[in-house]
Amino acid sequence: MNNGIHNSFKELLDLAGDYLSEGFKRNHSDESDSLTKIEEEIEGCKKCRLYETRTKCVPGKGVLNPEVMIIGEAPGADEDRSGIPFVGRAGQYMDKWMDAINLDRDKDLYIGNIVKCRPPQNRDPFPDEIEACKGYLERQIQLIKPKLILSVGRIASQFLTGSTLGIGRLRGRMYEYCGIPLIPTYHPSGVLRNPDSYRKPVWEDLKAVKKFLSENR
Ligand code: SF4
Repeated sequence: MNNGIHNSFKELLDLAGDYLSEGFKRNHSDESDSLTKIEEEIEGCKKCRLYETRTKCVPGKGVLNPEVMIIGEAPGADEDRSGIPFVGRAGQYMDKWMDAINLDRDKDLYIGNIVKCRPPQNRDPFPDEIEACKGYLERQIQLIKPKLILSVGRIASQFLTGSTLGIGRLRGRMYEYCGIPLIPTYHPSGVLRNPDSYRKPVWEDLKAVKKFLSENR
């Protein structure tokens, strides 16, 4: 057997072994990487058109090894001005969700988005923008090591689960992203717009988060 092929085959077997034992992405992070390094790269990033219209990029904010990493789709106007994720009305509402399951933004969470710059007029991020930005998120997850990911809204949940289902059909079960368990739910801004339809399912999802955390102390 050609040595290159042999080595590739052996690497494949090693990787399969790593995946089965501990999770592919976690084992193959770059040990020289850091959140500061990622933030600096994001600040200078021009990998997609969103850099042209951003005021501030929004890399994400929170603690390492959090109970939950919350991931939305993209910064909005308040976030674009401040550089901090989920600070507008939807963010304040999400803080109340977290309060309800005894989680504190400053101690228990890391909050971010799949794209780090605001799409103009808050449109959905385009697939090529998500593709350009996703490497930052994956590196962040490897460093942050949350116990659980809570994806909020259709765009983030579809991207992280790889599904094309609407959020109403996606939610209600557990997935995995980068080796981390993931629960999808509605976006807080969607719930603010339509509380009668979405408050109850969100509460069910938050109870699932709480149950998972209590079982994985
Ligand atoms: S959205 Fe992401 S990929 Fe696009 S410019 Fe901002 S940091 Fe770079």
